[in-house]
Amino acid sequence: MTPTTNAVDARLWVIIPAAGSGRRIPGDEPKQYARVAGRSVLEWSIEPFLRRDDVAGIVVAIAAADERWEHLRLATHRLIRTVPGGAERAQSVQHALQALQGFAHAQDWVLVHDAARPCLDANDLELLIKALATDAVGGLLATPLTDTVKHSDDENCVIRTVCRERLWRALTPQMFRYGALTEALARARASGQSVTDEASAMEMAGLRPRLIGGRPDNIKITLPADLELAERILAGRNRA
Ligand code: C5P
Repeated sequence: MTPTTNAVDARLWVIIPAAGSGRRIPGDEPKQYARVAGRSVLEWSIEPFLRRDDVAGIVVAIAAADERWEHLRLATHRLIRTVPGGAERAQSVQHALQALQGFAHAQDWVLVHDAARPCLDANDLELLIKALATDAVGGLLATPLTDTVKHSDDENCVIRTVCRERLWRALTPQMFRYGALTEALARARASGQSVTDEASAMEMAGLRPRLIGGRPDNIKITLPADLELAERILAGRNRA
């Protein structure tokens, strides 16, 4: 990575939180290292960013006890460095933001993408970056809810049907300015509020992230069945 110059153009930095333990996938392997379509989930998740020529650097947050990262070919890539992850996803992202201090300018863009999302399509990434390039705040890939949504009680009985109009599933990447995102996450943490994505920290700061419609197959690997689905999605794209 090269230190910040006085460049006027906002540069693109990428953060990959990859320090989760993925306990819902059986076995001792965290889900980001599960193999799908010939590679680890993590390698697939990073790949769309490496295919671009406008990414200044990539910071991957890995667990302190991670012994797998160093065996990946990506481990020695010139654009990539690692930082230790935190107890929660937001802390892992904060550690990565700290590692960019002195490199990233406050107006630079940071794209945060889950290590557990191996099916990000390069066209969606391009769409997000283009759509937000001149935006003051930033935003995220998301897809509108298409199923009817139910609210349940403790016994999985329906309490009510939720109106799905204007409801979206928040995906990643999420793209915000380096300075504003750093501040928003620090504030959320100081106030004790838990955030499961970057957009919620920005919302708490009174900002309105834009939702950019992306492909619904940008899935997050959570359950074993998601690995089979990812395998089919990636194999289908390779055939296309
Ligand atoms: O657990 P969840 O599915 O929400 O994790 C989303 C992403 O955040 C995953 O890529 C996971 O590796 C990462 N994560 C992290 N540090 C944590 C917990 C999760 O980097 N402490």
